[in-house]
Amino acid sequence: MDADLERLKQRIPLLQYLQCHNWTARRAGNRHEFVGLCPLHRDTRPSFYVNAHKNLFYCHGCGRGGDLIRFVQLFLSLPFHQSVEHLKQQLAPARAARLLEQTAAFYQMQLHRHPEATQYLERRGLRDPALIEELGIGYAPGGNLRRHLATQGYSLERLLDMGLINNQGRDAFCRRVIFPCLQHGQIVNLYGRSIGVAYPHRLLPRSKGGLFAWESISSFSTVILVEGLFDLAVLWQAGFRNTTCAIGTQLTSAQLAQLSDQPDRSVYIAFDQDDNQAGQKASGQLALRLKGAGIRACIVQLPHGHDPNSYFIAGATAADFTDCLERAQQL
Ligand SMILES: [Zn+2]
Repeated sequence: MDADLERLKQRIPLLQYLQCHNWTARRAGNRHEFVGLCPLHRDTRPSFYVNAHKNLFYCHGCGRGGDLIRFVQLFLSLPFHQSVEHLKQQLAPARAARLLEQTAAFYQMQLHRHPEATQYLERRGLRDPALIEELGIGYAPGGNLRRHLATQGYSLERLLDMGLINNQGRDAFCRRVIFPCLQHGQIVNLYGRSIGVAYPHRLLPRSKGGLFAWESISSFSTVILVEGLFDLAVLWQAGFRNTTCAIGTQLTSAQLAQLSDQPDRSVYIAFDQDDNQAGQKASGQLALRLKGAGIRACIVQLPHGHDPNSYFIAGATAADFTDCLERAQQL
C-alpha cells in the first residue's frame, strides 16, 4: 500500500497538480523551491512554499504543510481514502490518451487500404501526403476497431467507456475520415467526418470538448481561426501554418483565453459564409468577445457561399487568400 502511494505521488508531482489547479508561483531561493499565494487560506502575500524535489508544501500563513495527499485532503476537504481515489482519477487522462493514440494509429493504417477514403480527401482538396501524415489523418471503415483493440488487451467496458464502441457493441466511427485532436501534444479526442450519408460531424462524446483541434498557435502573433478541420488542412497546405480550428463557431472561455494569451495578437476569423448568415453572425459575436479581451480581431470575407475549404477547391491560390486577409474588416 505504501509503495502504491509513493508511486502515485511520483506520477503526479505536487507542483504539477497545483499548476493544473491554477496555482501560479515564482521561484524562491533554490531551484527546487517555489512560492505563491496559499490556496488553503485567504492569502494576500505569497506564503505558500513548494519544494518540487521533496514533493512537499508548507504555508507560513496558516501553518499547514505536507505531501500531495495531505494537500488534496485540505484543499477538497476529503478524508484520506477519498483523496487517494481522487488522485487516481487524475491519472485517467494519460491512460485515455494512450488508447486514443492506438486508435488513431490504427485508423491511419486503414487510410491507404481504402481508396474511397483517399478519394474523399482528394475531393476535399487534400493532396499533400506529408501533410496528411503530419495531421495524423486516418480512416474508420467501421467493423474492425473493436477486434484490433481487443488484441491489444483493451476490455469491452473500456472501449464503451471511451465511446469508441456504441451500446450495440459496434464501432462508433463508421465510414469516416478521422482527425486526431491534440492538446499539450496529447490526443484528447477524435473527430470523424462522414464520407457517406451519415451525420457529417462527430466527436467522441465522452472525451474532451471545447478544444482547438490544433493548438500550436502560441508562437504566432497573427492567427487565422477557422470552423472546420478541412479548412485548417487546406490552409496549412497553402502555407498558412498559423491557422487553428475550434471545430465550430462557439468558443468556450478557455479557448478565448488561449487566443488572448498574447496581448498584441491579431485574430483573423475565417468562418463559413452561409446563406442563413449564421457564420457571419458568429464571426461578429466572436470578434466582439475578442475585442473585449483586448485582442485585435478581423473578419475575413470570402466570396459568397464559400468557406476556406471550398474556396481552395474552387481554385483559389495562396495569393487569393492573402488578398482576402488584407481586405479583412477590423472590428
Ligand atoms: Zn496557508
